[in-house]
Amino acid sequence: MASFRTLDDLGEIKGKRALVRVDLNVPMADLHVTDDTRLRATLPTVNELAERGAIVLLLAHFGRPQGIQRPDMSLSLVTRFYGETLGRPVRFVGDCQGPGAADAIATMGPGDVAILENVRFHAGEERNDPALAAAMAALGDFYVNDAFSAAHRAHASTEGIAHLLPAYAGRSMEAELKALEKALGAPERPVAAVVGGAKVSSKLDVLGNVVARVDHLIIGGGMANSFLAARGVDVGKSLCEHDLNQTALAILDAADRAHCTVHLPYDVVVAKEFVPNPPSLRTVNVHEVAADEMILDIGPAAVEALADVLKTCRTLVWNGPLGAFETPPFDRATIALARTAAALTQAGQLVSVAGGGDTVAALNQAGVAGDFSFVSTAGGAFLEWKEGKELPGVAALAKAG
Ligand code: ADP
Ligand code: MG
Repeated sequence: MASFRTLDDLGEIKGKRALVRVDLNVPMADLHVTDDTRLRATLPTVNELAERGAIVLLLAHFGRPQGIQRPDMSLSLVTRFYGETLGRPVRFVGDCQGPGAADAIATMGPGDVAILENVRFHAGEERNDPALAAAMAALGDFYVNDAFSAAHRAHASTEGIAHLLPAYAGRSMEAELKALEKALGAPERPVAAVVGGAKVSSKLDVLGNVVARVDHLIIGGGMANSFLAARGVDVGKSLCEHDLNQTALAILDAADRAHCTVHLPYDVVVAKEFVPNPPSLRTVNVHEVAADEMILDIGPAAVEALADVLKTCRTLVWNGPLGAFETPPFDRATIALARTAAALTQAGQLVSVAGGGDTVAALNQAGVAGDFSFVSTAGGAFLEWKEGKELPGVAALAKAG
């Protein structure tokens, strides 16, 4: 891993404007933040910069507004909660670029903190448009990236801007990179990867490379449905991306060639309706899913077999819940396997690293997040790091020479 600049490399910053890319993409329900893990992850950097007298300007995305201004995806919704978490007043600035934003920032003084509006309200963000990067850069004197979870994307606020201002890794970014390197830089084998969750297409790309680096690939969640379907299993109404059949089969082939054992569930928990404790709940063999049923969790026999696999491993990397864990009883497999991993870790038999917004929420629900070796708030970035890719947002922070 190339070395990168950190806040230790900053000189005197009193009165200087710090543009800080953070991850404020928190889950919300009824206008309340339901899990503030990501907000808390920004505190070391934001507090340090504020205490050193910088004018702290937070850049972040919120949801997927796709270049249009959507009031339901305004970061003004997060500002009050952020202020409460930070314990300091936090202003909201209605744009992340332009003269209006510059005027608002000009009224701020050393130690003040503001959240700038959702960077994805501009179409240029995801295109890494140089004009948008320059307009954002014009608001600051230096740039700090503390959003490891967004570092796998070469966007204007994560990559483009880092080339226009002196750029540094924030404390969370620094901690994530150091911890990942320590746990996974030269992992003790056998290595198991658990991959589950719902973002099948975006995670599938990564799996082709992950199989070459792990001994066991454990597939659950919506991901398992897509692999089962690719193998000809009728998954009924399950969340499943049927158009990815060929990709899934190619990954299974690549795993074979790399001597990576792929574990797909042989029993699953199904229901006809996706509600808590549905009357139609059944645990069945994967070949017995009815046309009107959905697979919402992997089954107890599968979990038992996976626990046995983990007992033979020395390193575990986990991204994605094994089932629809927010809705009982579809949290059972995730909780059971997470507890096994936590116990093995506490017994000194396993180094366990987990990443992903929902994965962390599931580990918290199981009460074991603190028992893993390291928990990262990043999902996609975490997987790509594991895959061995250079993350554009991190590469842009590399020390010269
Ligand atoms: P992460 O945020 O950890 O990267 P994802 O966002 O990819 O994970 O996926 C998490 C989501 O996947 C959760 O909301 C969970 O309910 C959902 N999920 C997992 N398994 C299933 C399934 N079998 N059917 C539908 N949704 C599922
Ligand atoms: Mg998620």
